[in-house]
Amino acid sequence: MTNMIDVEIQYRLKFETFFHFGSGDGGLACDSGILRGNNRSYFQIPASSLKGMIADQCRTLGRIYQGFGLCKNAQDKKPGGRCSQQKTPCIFCQIFYEGFRFTSMQAPLKNTVVRAYVKINPASGTAEEKKLMFEEMIPPDYDNQDTLTIEGALPSTSADLAMTLLLGGLYLLNNAGARKSKQGAVRCQIQKINYSNETLTSAEVWQNRWLNVESWKKIEGMKEQAHG
Ligand SMILES: [Zn+2]
Repeated sequence: MTNMIDVEIQYRLKFETFFHFGSGDGGLACDSGILRGNNRSYFQIPASSLKGMIADQCRTLGRIYQGFGLCKNAQDKKPGGRCSQQKTPCIFCQIFYEGFRFTSMQAPLKNTVVRAYVKINPASGTAEEKKLMFEEMIPPDYDNQDTLTIEGALPSTSADLAMTLLLGGLYLLNNAGARKSKQGAVRCQIQKINYSNETLTSAEVWQNRWLNVESWKKIEGMKEQAHG
C-alpha cells in the first residue's frame, strides 16, 4: 500500500492578447457553443480546455526530459492512449487520466468579443470560399478574478517528480499559443499550493522545492529554445 500525498494548486490566468478556447477552425460555424456549453447563456472557460493546454505542455516536458518517465502514448499525444500495460501508470497518466480534478472559474466572463475573419489562400492571395469564421474571444488584459484549482493525490514515491512536471507545465503555459499567431499570450500565476499538510504561498519556496532540480534546468533550456 502506497502512501498518497494530497495536492492542490491554486492559480490565476491573465490574458494579454485576444484569447480563444476551441479548435480555431470552425469553417462557417460560429463556435461560441464550445464556450457557452449546454444551456448556459454566459461565457466560461472550460476546465477541459485548461486541462488540455497544461497536458500539452507536460507532454513536451516528458519528451525533453526522459527522467519524468512518461509512457510512449503520453509523449506522442496518442488520443486516449493512457498507459495500460504497466501496473502503475506513468506520472502523466496518473495526473491527467486518474482522479485529478481541474476546476475552472465559476464566474461568468464579461465583455467578451466576437471576432470575424476570413482564411486567405496563400497561393491566390484571395479569401477562400466558405471560410468566414467567427470566434468568441477573451479580450486583452482580461484578468480573471477567480481561482482555478488542480486537486488530486499522488503516491508519495513519485509525488515530487509529479509536482515538478505539473508546475513546469503551468510555467510553460505562459506562452501557450503565442508563437505563431501572436494570439493567446497568457500569464499563469501560481498563488498557493497545498501539499500534504503544508501550505506554500511563496513562489520562491515552491520554485526551490520542486523546480530547482536537474529536470528543471532542462525545462528552462527548452523554454529558451522554443521562445528565444
Ligand atoms: Zn502513461
